[in-house]
Amino acid sequence: MTQKVEVDFGLCESNGVCMGIIPEVFDLDEEDYLHVLQDEVTPENEEQIREAVRQCPRQAISIRDE
Ligand code: SF4
Repeated sequence: MTQKVEVDFGLCESNGVCMGIIPEVFDLDEEDYLHVLQDEVTPENEEQIREAVRQCPRQAISIRDE
């Protein structure tokens, strides 16, 4: 089973907290739109993604099972 990162863009306020934790996964462009560069949760990125989930002030990030 794989796990994927999901962002609720209706909740996201583009403050960049997640990008500060793991920029390989979360990226804000020049127009402040958040992009998920890599949505697969791997053993290498899992800890930081979970930290981003915890620290997102809007609770906009979640991890779902596929
Ligand atoms: S931390 Fe949350 S609110 Fe901030 S940019 Fe990331 S998803 Fe959006």
